[in-house]
Amino acid sequence: MIQFENVSKQYPDGTHALRQVNLKINKGELFVMIGPSGCGKTTMLKMINRLIERTDGTVRINERPIDEYNIHELRWNIGYVLQQIALFPHMTIAENIAVVPELRKWKSVQIHDRVHSLLDMVGLNGETYGDRKPGELSGGQQQRIGVLRALAADPEIVLMDEPFSALDPMSREKLQDDILEIQRQMKKTIVFVTHDIQEAMKLGDRICIMKDGQVLQVGTPEELVQKPADEFVRDFVGGPDIDVNQDHTSHFASDDQMVFDLEAIMVPLAPGHVPKSAKTAVPVSITLTDLLDVMDAYDTLLVEKNHQIVGQVSRTDLLRYWSGQLQQERGDGHE
Ligand code: ADP
Repeated sequence: MIQFENVSKQYPDGTHALRQVNLKINKGELFVMIGPSGCGKTTMLKMINRLIERTDGTVRINERPIDEYNIHELRWNIGYVLQQIALFPHMTIAENIAVVPELRKWKSVQIHDRVHSLLDMVGLNGETYGDRKPGELSGGQQQRIGVLRALAADPEIVLMDEPFSALDPMSREKLQDDILEIQRQMKKTIVFVTHDIQEAMKLGDRICIMKDGQVLQVGTPEELVQKPADEFVRDFVGGPDIDVNQDHTSHFASDDQMVFDLEAIMVPLAPGHVPKSAKTAVPVSITLTDLLDVMDAYDTLLVEKNHQIVGQVSRTDLLRYWSGQLQQERGDGHE
């Protein structure tokens, strides 16, 4: 449904951002683009809604070259979610979601139903949230509203440019689950840019690995792990011993992508008991990078599993755990 044929982009300063890219994105798939910073992901994404014009080649949607579409029609039919979505601060949540349906002159009953069913889909009550202003919502909730806004007018295609990368780990997991649920129900063609391989593995029907403006490999998560096209792809997806069907507890290539299971470290909490001292929560499986980030900002974290708080972990608990591990390793070394 979206096709790139020999597409190249050279910026006016001479940078070759894309070189002869050929690619087919199928209708109804969640297609993830991933690669190192500067490899051309955003350039490629923005070519689909013509925010960036290519210098060579053809991009087609449903067989038709994109230049043949009226540009406003094209953009209204393509939802777009950015890293930090700017909701209109003076408008309510319901009005924010309804922006494109309003532009397209939907009937108000239809708009009302649409807004409420979208909020329902991500477990937000329309009566409670519809009349609030964006400022009354957390960053994660605002980003969820941004995703709903992109879907509001029922576009065929949704482009997402690192939509969750500015969020804390728990909100990020929630939004990833939202996307999977939305996709299960709506079957949109979603093109999703990320630099997080775990996110790519979790969400992607197929993943496109890019480097230096070129596509190295396109495949399902299993194909990339089992048959990487080259060393770069192998390193990127984390080596041959990963079972992508396991729930992200595998070890990834670099230490900072290693996933911790906090269940072994945390102090369990009785259901419903949430201590006031804890200000934020993290998922029970978390990467070292994310953990260090949140630990920088908070002394004590709540641990969330299956949408419930199951325990808490303090900075001291973590340090104790790590120093215990170190001692163990040293001890093992002397044996
Ligand atoms: P990614 O999204 O993978 O980080 P981009 O598509 O943003 O990569 O950028 C690809 C390459 O094009 C990079 O080398 C970047 O510096 C360059 N680039 C992006 N936008 C411009 C621009 N407006 N002018 C010149 N070079 C640009």
